[in-house]
Amino acid sequence: MLKNILFIDLTSKESFVEERRELFGEFIGGSGVAIKLLHELSPRGVDPFSPENPIIMVSSPLLGLFTSISKTICMFKSPLTGNLGESHAGGKLGLAMKLAGYGAIVITGVAEKPVYLEISSNGKVNIKGASSLLGVHPKKAIELLSDPKPVGLQSIIATGPASEKFVCFANVVVDRHNYFGRLGLGAVFGAKNLKAVKVNGEGKIKIERIDEYKLLFNEIYREAVETNKMLKYHDLGTPANVHALNEIKALPARNFLLNQFEEAEKVSGELYGDNYLIRKVSCPNCPIGCKHIALVRSFFAKQHEIEPLEIPYDYEPIYTLGINLGIGNPVGILKLISACDFYGLDAMMTGTMLSWITEAYEKGMVTKEDTLDIEPRWGDYESYVKIIDYIVKMPNAFYMQISRGKVPEEGRDFFMALGGNGVAGYHTGPAFIIGTLIGARHSHVSNAGYSFDQKHIGEKVSVDEMVDFLISEEIRRCVLESCGVCLFARRIYDWEKIQKALTILGYNYTVEELKEMGRKIYREKYLYKFREGFSFEKLYVPKRFFETSSASGFIEKETIDEALRLAEKRIMEILGEEKEKVIS
Ligand code: SF4
Repeated sequence: MLKNILFIDLTSKESFVEERRELFGEFIGGSGVAIKLLHELSPRGVDPFSPENPIIMVSSPLLGLFTSISKTICMFKSPLTGNLGESHAGGKLGLAMKLAGYGAIVITGVAEKPVYLEISSNGKVNIKGASSLLGVHPKKAIELLSDPKPVGLQSIIATGPASEKFVCFANVVVDRHNYFGRLGLGAVFGAKNLKAVKVNGEGKIKIERIDEYKLLFNEIYREAVETNKMLKYHDLGTPANVHALNEIKALPARNFLLNQFEEAEKVSGELYGDNYLIRKVSCPNCPIGCKHIALVRSFFAKQHEIEPLEIPYDYEPIYTLGINLGIGNPVGILKLISACDFYGLDAMMTGTMLSWITEAYEKGMVTKEDTLDIEPRWGDYESYVKIIDYIVKMPNAFYMQISRGKVPEEGRDFFMALGGNGVAGYHTGPAFIIGTLIGARHSHVSNAGYSFDQKHIGEKVSVDEMVDFLISEEIRRCVLESCGVCLFARRIYDWEKIQKALTILGYNYTVEELKEMGRKIYREKYLYKFREGFSFEKLYVPKRFFETSSASGFIEKETIDEALRLAEKRIMEILGEEKEKVIS
């Protein structure tokens, strides 16, 4: 059972380990433990850039033991939304933490100069100078910090130039091909003068009930590789969505002005798979290999000087940096993904800002004086590469505002963000909008509203049914995320499997108790959100959602309003007696 938390204060340069057996016993790990620690350690109303804003990274006891259980959960106060910051990353981090003996790592304070952390077992923490890494892109930093012969399992996470400039949607790269992508964790690292964290896990995992473990492991493994439950993620990967969404008119193109993209064929999963894919990469103990890596030849000088670039691609970056910007050039999209990778930017929020700038420029709200002579035009990826450079360097007030993820009031009707977070590439219907709005971290994966819409195309579904699905799915996911389950494996890990896996490791929960735990975690997240100023009245839906037909037809504003009222009522019921705290 996990029990130890490693606390590191960058200001005093001190660290210590605290045993919190009861906390991990009550919430397992992941998002459950993280939200409890956020309540405890994040002062009410804290400035996200303050040294007091804690970075909380939590592992799970199931990590590395079962197929597709890979996620480390990080919580912090988000500089992008000013509220709950929650980001999940695959890769080796959580497992390395566990092997080093830590269920969680908490980082507070601010270093005098840029530093990186080297963490190993028994509370050993070295705070090392990172001035030479300033301006270095995250993947290069990871390469430079990697030990050629690490002791045990090594995981390295690093930031890029966007973090150093506090861009509110800067990300943190994990082991090269994984990301704490959303809600600006990179900016919080930057504010702490923290460039990277290296964790060396030297321990071993001992399993008492080895025969039961082997049986369950094999059952889950077979389900992952011998059924079609995860086939899509291995085969074309999430870019398979391009065709599927285009066909049902749910593929938002050019800032949601369209619901289909005329060049979808050129940027489809099939196209990338046939022409650019060179390999697939997996998290530890996952046979799926969902991370698809493309190879692009980059000509950087005369005489045919070529640099081969390896660029990971997924549906969301293809959508947000491609289809969303009217780009039908597959290499152009890869170059934009590469630019985001270079600076350490969340691709999804970057794409949201770029498409807003383009439309605002067309409408005359943004001028060449603002963009510094760049003419943003749909499809012109080269101009977007230059704008990305300016978003990070912030040479004027316009780019400074964009780097905060904000737009002027008069442009908000076509600023495609919900709850302050740039939306994912689905125009499936009302459940996607409601789901993203009421999802605790304003992510489409909080509760899969897009999937609910797709299942019910052409049907009349009551608002009650929709809201009930979204809340109960998010509650279920709160438990999956506390166990580190990759959501691509959500069809494998039903309540019974999770319960069995936990029992083998000595956690004796019934399914009912797990469900109650999910409700508790959900409640804690909402209590934190309300504490930090969230309110349903402040939620805003850009008019564009209602102007462009979705896969479910035109969405009525009244439907969204009714669903929000109902969601508020339901969430208040879940808060129960605690709701008094929210109201007061
Ligand atoms: S499906 Fe992909 S993200 Fe999920 S655990 Fe496997 S490799 Fe990692």
